[in-house]
Amino acid sequence: MRKKIIIPLLLAAALALVLAACGEPKNNAPVEHKHDYVGSITKEPTCAEEGIKTFTCYGCGDSYTEVVPKSDDHVFESKITREPSCSESGERTYTCRNCGYSYTEAIAATGNHMFEYFETRDPTCMEAGARIYKCLNCDETQEDPIPATGVHDFRAEVTRKATCVECGEITYTCSMCGSMFTELTPATDRHLYESKVTKEPGCEEKGEMTFTCSMCGDSYTEEIDELGHNWSSWQTTREATEEEEGETARHCTICGKIETQPIPKLPPSEKPDPEPGDGTEPAPGGEPAPGGGN
Ligand SMILES: [Zn+2]
Ligand SMILES: [Zn+2]
Ligand SMILES: [Zn+2]
Ligand SMILES: [Zn+2]
Ligand SMILES: [Zn+2]
Ligand SMILES: [Zn+2]
Repeated sequence: MRKKIIIPLLLAAALALVLAACGEPKNNAPVEHKHDYVGSITKEPTCAEEGIKTFTCYGCGDSYTEVVPKSDDHVFESKITREPSCSESGERTYTCRNCGYSYTEAIAATGNHMFEYFETRDPTCMEAGARIYKCLNCDETQEDPIPATGVHDFRAEVTRKATCVECGEITYTCSMCGSMFTELTPATDRHLYESKVTKEPGCEEKGEMTFTCSMCGDSYTEEIDELGHNWSSWQTTREATEEEEGETARHCTICGKIETQPIPKLPPSEKPDPEPGDGTEPAPGGEPAPGGGN
């Protein structure tokens, strides 16, 4: 109830003050009016439109306006313009409902990969393998290690042949990691014999071949068969007569050995000699002359 009374009183007081300010009558002379403007926003500025401030003189009612610059008070609405993935960031765009001004903000990648089994890298003797998983949405991979087998794949190679005097050597090399070790093999009883004729064979004499191991000197001999004579053809060296055997001979062209054979006496001529023989051979028991009985 009180307020209703007080407000008109205050207004009256204010008016009196204004009138006093606008100019107090002085000696009844015409008073020069001095405006006293009071400004108030008559149109709020927004981000899209400038506002208006109106200045009014209460004394005379004169007024003018001033532009109030646009405000920065945007009214943003936001929207996800790119969804983030496991590995790539997304984007949220803010746009002012009033003026269209917009800016974007990154949305962090989710990091939520969707791993699925991809392939297996087999372990070797020395290197661990792995089961590899790959994200369905990006190239990110994850590995589940498989320990190295420790089992080498050794291949043997003879790197030195054993002889009668020297051990041999076998080198084992792992085909996967190259690890190697060697193993000695015992000397063999296999000699490396070289042969040499140590006695030439003759026509009737055996020769000798000696085999000597070039590594250890071990040796043994073998016979070489005799060559046999190289005979000339038979040649009569003495003609046979009725009284005496002849002789035929041949010789070896190599060793000079001579072989002879008798040629039987000639048969007696049809006119036999009345004298019996030559007297040295009394015919025993009246046997006929020996002749060609071989
Ligand atoms: Zn005025
Ligand atoms: Zn705006
Ligand atoms: Zn991913
Ligand atoms: Zn290996
Ligand atoms: Zn030997
Ligand atoms: Zn001979």
